[in-house]
Amino acid sequence: MKTGVVIAAAGSGRRMGADGNKVLLSLMGKPIIAHSLELFASLPEVDELVVVTRDVDLKIMDRIVRKFAADKPVQVVVGGRERQQSVYKGLKALAANTDWAIIHDGARPYLTADVVYQALQAVKKHQAVGIGVPVKDTIKQVRDGFVVETLPRPELWAMQTPQIFAYDLILRAHVEAKRRKLTATDDCALLEELGQPVFIVPGDYENIKITTPEDLPVCNTFFIGYGWDVHRFAANRPLILCGVEIPSEKGLLGHSDADVAVHALMDALLGALGRGDIGEHFPDSDPRFKDISSLTLLKRVITLLQGDKLAVNNVDITIMAEVPKLSPYKDAMRAKLAGLLEISERRINIKATTAEGLGFVGRQEGIKATAAVSLIGREGR
Ligand code: MG
Repeated sequence: MKTGVVIAAAGSGRRMGADGNKVLLSLMGKPIIAHSLELFASLPEVDELVVVTRDVDLKIMDRIVRKFAADKPVQVVVGGRERQQSVYKGLKALAANTDWAIIHDGARPYLTADVVYQALQAVKKHQAVGIGVPVKDTIKQVRDGFVVETLPRPELWAMQTPQIFAYDLILRAHVEAKRRKLTATDDCALLEELGQPVFIVPGDYENIKITTPEDLPVCNTFFIGYGWDVHRFAANRPLILCGVEIPSEKGLLGHSDADVAVHALMDALLGALGRGDIGEHFPDSDPRFKDISSLTLLKRVITLLQGDKLAVNNVDITIMAEVPKLSPYKDAMRAKLAGLLEISERRINIKATTAEGLGFVGRQEGIKATAAVSLIGREGR
């Protein structure tokens, strides 16, 4: 008996926001598609593999295939515009004497050999086998914003891949679908159209398809940054700390609004990003930054962070001031920063302390602030 595998990997990753093909993004140290390639290449039951990809990815896919599926005959072929066309091209590339065709999405890296074996067993009896899991949510049919019907949950299954078929049968279903101009989001549906019963084998809830960045696990690497800043007290200036105006006899002197805490925070963020300091980004010789709200500058730093596909994990700020008393304003400061950084207030800590009368802070000449931050990235960046 001859078994061939078609791995569909011709998607563009639009929903991932990825520049290229999402199956090429990194997951646990190798491309997403490499996980499926390694699994199928390791199964003695599998005779050959076909990877269907975009023409722009042919070269890189060739390299990946040679590295992760070297033990089996593998072809890389160019797919079509829709998944269905790509799978059909892949099926046609399999040897003509293939008995069983396994069709799998390259964006499902968590598939286990156990599930494949159960489906391979079942297909010998049923000719057409899908993998699925019972849905956990209540599913409603909605049209124009209103519920049409609540579907009976015990009968609903969410379909996964692989789907395994008798080779001649699935080929015929694709030819027939093409003739009748039918499109479906999975291959089982094409057989359903032919009136062919499709048997369902329970899959794994972990066998998810990587579709949006949230599907990728958070990296276990953190980026840490630290910053500090000092500003001198001056009369006739407002006192602004973490974007909150605080009643005070004196404010802080500076080119911008002199928000010493936000300056420390920005330096910490730039430090974690490996992008220098705020002096480089917002020089105080530049008239554009005269009296500017430091929150506006912070927004620009956050844009840099998002461009690097990083998110703030937590922030810890210490403000050292002899006067005024800052503790009544800490909650307002946290709320202000949480909104801008798009994280929970619980991930932002603000400490206020005096200097016990020592040094420039103790002599009430100015305020000092320090900030520590950690950033997290997602795999794939
Ligand atoms: Mg400053």
